[in-house]
Amino acid sequence: MIIKPKIRGFICTNAHPLGCAANVKQQISYVQAQGELHNAPKNVLVIGCSTGYGLASRITAAFAGGANTLGVCFEKPPSDRKTATAGWYNTAAFHQEAHAAGLYAQTLNGDAFGKEMKQQVIDTLKAEMGKVDLVIYSLASPRRTDPETGEIYKSTLKPVGQAYKTKTYDTDKNLVHEIALEPANDDEIEQTIKVMGGEDWELWLNALADADLLADGCKTTAYTYVGKELTWPIYGQATIGRAKEDLDRAAAAIVKTKADKKVQAYVSSLKALVTQASSAIPVMPLYISLIYKVMKEEGTHQGCIEQIYDLFNEKLTQAQPVTDELGRLYMNDKETNDKTQAKITSLWDQVTQDNFHQLSDYAGYHHEFLKLFGFDIQGVDYEADVEPLVEW
Ligand code: NAD
Repeated sequence: MIIKPKIRGFICTNAHPLGCAANVKQQISYVQAQGELHNAPKNVLVIGCSTGYGLASRITAAFAGGANTLGVCFEKPPSDRKTATAGWYNTAAFHQEAHAAGLYAQTLNGDAFGKEMKQQVIDTLKAEMGKVDLVIYSLASPRRTDPETGEIYKSTLKPVGQAYKTKTYDTDKNLVHEIALEPANDDEIEQTIKVMGGEDWELWLNALADADLLADGCKTTAYTYVGKELTWPIYGQATIGRAKEDLDRAAAAIVKTKADKKVQAYVSSLKALVTQASSAIPVMPLYISLIYKVMKEEGTHQGCIEQIYDLFNEKLTQAQPVTDELGRLYMNDKETNDKTQAKITSLWDQVTQDNFHQLSDYAGYHHEFLKLFGFDIQGVDYEADVEPLVEW
């Protein structure tokens, strides 16, 4: 099969197996070049392990820390006529590299919100890996089925309190335009908290503790984005922000209820960058194209792997990592400091349809977007016939 990107709206509906493998290898090479992590966790569970920040976490744990990793993801396998999702190919490539390096790597594909997956993870840990000393929670999902009631909750990306008018860039139509976002109602806020809040993170930690699979002093982290004024109305102070606030509640609850195991639970605040999850959020493609421009000029630009290596190196491998005033592991200062934000705001105010491509680094954004699906990667022959049927 000759595989070229098929973009529909904010998503690419196919993926390139060799490109995804090259992307995984690039990330492995990056962390190997940074040097080995000291005091790294050795048995790591990554929930949401196949793309974005979760994949980068798994790669860092394994290839900079020498960890055994068990991953959980929700990806589509390939068929004769259709490629797999990128996360499937990423996982296959990760397994191949990890096994070649003599590292244990296993991945379970299915719904992380359900009881069945939690049981499968427990069974696999008991049989193959043992107690975990780090649990990464990196799920991004538009819906969640409640494991007790079977009710399906949907997350919404809407402002809270009042309507909000702002600029956005429609990647499909190459159009900078205004959008008016109506505020969420209470039910939409509650449903978003159910999907992207901390309840499922807590359920995971409870299940692992009940099965005696948490090592003493085990650390766990879930990822958030805090941002600043430009993104607050659609992120930080919007429905998704409400859900993310619930992670702080969950972190405190985990620490309290797992005190016997001295579990340390943190919310890690990471930078905005192109992933499958963020490209679906209105305003984000425009905001990210502008911060790429500013941060590349400042020499502070980072992708998933650079952010996550720093998170491990500066925070997760420290006995008592330095936290911000809210107890979070704050990794996003290079984006949210006042000087950088002032430059981004100035560009934001100036940007129009006519000057968008000059003022922003949309070319960089688009390259990163294609790369998520294994496209636009140097050294990959996109004219070659490739086998889409890749197994783990
Ligand atoms: P992503 O879309 O790249 O990754 C999501 C992962 O979750 C994938 O591995 C996917 O397979 C898995 N997944 C989704 N639903 C699942 C389910 N039901 N069961 C099992 N696995 C499932 O997203 P990302 O951008 O890396 O986001 C990860 C976390 O980081 C999210 O909490 C997000 O809010 C946070 N974050 C993202 C950004 C950003 O700019 N992208 C910034 C800061 C924080």
